[in-house]
Amino acid sequence: MIQEYQIRILPEQAASEEGIKRYLAKEKGLDVRTLNQVRVLKRSIDARQRTIFVNLKVRAYINEFPQDDQYIHTEYPDVSSRPRVIVVGEGPGGLFASLRLIELGYRPIVLERGKDVRERKKDLSNITKTQKVDGESNYCFGEGGAGAYSDGKLYTRSKKRGSVDKILNVFCQHGANTNILADAHPHIGTDKLPRVIENMRNTIIKCGGEVHFQTKMIRLILESEGKLTAPDAAAGDRVIGVEAVNLATGAEETYRGPVILATGHSARDVYRYLASAKIDIEAKGIAVGVRLEHPSQLIDQIQYHNKSGRGKYLPAAEYSFVTQVEGRGVYSFCMCPGGFVIPAATGPEQLVVNGMSPSNRGTAWSNSGMVVETHPEDVAQFVKEHQAIIEQTEMKAQQNASLFTPHSSLQMMYFQEIVEKQCWQQGNMKQTAPAQRMADFVNNRLSYDLPKSSYAPGIISSPLHFWMPSFVSKRLQEGFRTFGKNAHGFLTNEATLIAMETRTSSPVRIIRDRETLQHVRIQGLFPCGEGAGYAGGIVSAGVDGERCAEMCAEYMKQL
Ligand SMILES: Cc1cc2nc3c(=O)[nH]c(=O)nc-3n(C[C@H](O)[C@H](O)[C@H](O)COP(=O)(O)OP(=O)(O)OC[C@H]3O[C@@H](n4cnc5c(N)ncnc54)[C@H](O)[C@@H]3O)c2cc1C
Repeated sequence: MIQEYQIRILPEQAASEEGIKRYLAKEKGLDVRTLNQVRVLKRSIDARQRTIFVNLKVRAYINEFPQDDQYIHTEYPDVSSRPRVIVVGEGPGGLFASLRLIELGYRPIVLERGKDVRERKKDLSNITKTQKVDGESNYCFGEGGAGAYSDGKLYTRSKKRGSVDKILNVFCQHGANTNILADAHPHIGTDKLPRVIENMRNTIIKCGGEVHFQTKMIRLILESEGKLTAPDAAAGDRVIGVEAVNLATGAEETYRGPVILATGHSARDVYRYLASAKIDIEAKGIAVGVRLEHPSQLIDQIQYHNKSGRGKYLPAAEYSFVTQVEGRGVYSFCMCPGGFVIPAATGPEQLVVNGMSPSNRGTAWSNSGMVVETHPEDVAQFVKEHQAIIEQTEMKAQQNASLFTPHSSLQMMYFQEIVEKQCWQQGNMKQTAPAQRMADFVNNRLSYDLPKSSYAPGIISSPLHFWMPSFVSKRLQEGFRTFGKNAHGFLTNEATLIAMETRTSSPVRIIRDRETLQHVRIQGLFPCGEGAGYAGGIVSAGVDGERCAEMCAEYMKQL
């Protein structure tokens, strides 16, 4: 017999299958010897009161054994002789688009500017060793995209439960722990993600798809009324492929087929190209702020209402704060309990921080982005005042001295570039991050010293309250006061602000048709995932990748 139960038990009882069996036997009158297996279907922690409970939905196998895997298996057929689709970018958007294309009988040809997920790791550790960032292989670029060395949190605000479950099941099929199907806040961990990503790539290749590393798309091949248009022309109305450069050899290569463009939120060269080729894009609001790092024990004490912390059976505690200050949201973002703060820049003369955590969430620190909602109209004056920085960046990006004309659609990207450069300058022109103790920041005081930090390239005391854009710093100060009132002990000088967090989402939207998901004007081009402005996180990028693949398959049927 199979029976499902909704139970509310203590963390020590929930920690093992034996504990749950013993609870069921006692409370539900079952004979423990007949309970062959108990599967946890849903798990969440209720830490609202002093006594912490774990809410579980469990399935008990009484006098029988489960006959199925814990996840739903997807069949991937051989597509080696099927029509090709070019997928640019091998982040979660591109990976899930490719796997879905295979399911639908199409052959993905994946182009990825960075290296494979293992090789990439060397370039990440070089950031700390050399204080330099490789512009093609870093925390955002390379196999697995920004998702690979991320936290691997898999929660999303998406209401489409079916699509989200599909993504989680595909992760399990490729080696993720099946706990992610049960946990209210599923999490893979930065130590486990690379193997899962490798397995997904191997599925693509085994089925006849191709994955080309160090292969950077430089432009789209466009045609108009069946005739090829000149490179970078605005006249094209259909994409028939891409031109790419092989970064290992320098050779230019051509790949033909409709294009799923999943290049992520940091491919500024792609946005610059789209703007110059007059391919419709628009500026999009982002959130900007800092990483805030507390000792994880302090967060455990606050969130679990217990001076001795989380004890043996509870995970490192999470938090989530949100408030409004002068009409803009101020909130915690991408919280990483027991994690690290990491350098997430994608090129020289930038300093950007982000956060990640290993699967055990076991470091001595808990961090989160603390960010302020920022709209294009908020930054217009600031960007105008710092035009010189943009001109320098643009000249370097274009590698020629042609006269620079700002594109209004790139306004938010310019804003990111300015603050990231200022941050790098404040950090002594290295990856050493400017930092300030939290209470000092709120009280406009320079910190004389700083707590130990997980940020490997090092932190340096800096008056963030003074040099950060005031429309960000003033709101953050106010937000911190509110959060400190709501959670006693949170606003403290034991916590450190590490500057700056600017890559919370895409600064640009590549405008697409709501129904067909094709670019609004150009057929055969499917802007996908976070870089297109239609996703914000691993799962939502995966869901968007699947939808783009489905719409691309519809498009191909009509060719
Ligand atoms: C440190 C960090 C931690 C994060 N933690 C989490 C988390 O815990 N949970 C969560 O949901 N989200 C997290 N995120 C965000 C998440 O990683 C992104 O939302 C997600 O990866 C977006 O997927 P994507 O496929 O759209 O883009 P990306 O993952 O950015 O992938 C884009 C890919 O395109 C490639 N590319 C770019 N330009 C070109 C080109 N011209 N030619 C060929 N290839 C190109 C890039 O190299 C990259 O691999 C984190 C991000 C970072 C940086």
